[in-house]
Formats: sequence, C-alpha cells, structure tokens
Amino acid sequence: MSRHDTRTCISCGMPMRTVEEHAAADPSKDYCRHCAHEDGRMKSYDEVLAGFAGFLQHTQGLQEQVARDTAAQMLTKQPAWSDR
Ligand SMILES: [Zn+2]
Repeated sequence: MSRHDTRTCISCGMPMRTVEEHAAADPSKDYCRHCAHEDGRMKSYDEVLAGFAGFLQHTQGLQEQVARDTAAQMLTKQPAWSDR
C-alpha cells in the first residue's frame, strides 16, 4: 500500500486513503475505484446510484425504493452530482 494524503471521492464521498483506492490506482483521479469502470472512466450518475442503492440494501436491509431514495439524497451532497 502506498500512503498519501487522504482525499474524498467526488462521486460517493468515500475517503481514499491509499493510491489503490483511486480509480485505476491513479491518484490524480478524484473519484474512487468503486465509481470507475475497469478502464478508469468515471461511472455515470445512474450507475453510481444503482451501486449505492444496492450497497444500502445489503448493508442496511432497506427496501429497494427506500434505498434508491436514500442513495439519491446522499449523492446530491457530493461535488460530482451537486448541480443535478
Ligand atoms: Zn466513489
């Protein structure tokens, strides 16, 4: 693991404590590997939203619609999506 200053993903808000947590392990990218495709491109809002909602369903046992609403509210606070 390579240490560097922790930055926060502009898409989902996850702290990125290591270079490996950045998209494509590239610390110049300001979003995390969960919010990127394998080639390092950032996922679309809908893709991030679906992933986030699924995460909430699994970890918090939310109903699908509740999970989507919660995810949408949380994403609105992130810089990548704040103008939506
Ligand atoms: Zn992210």
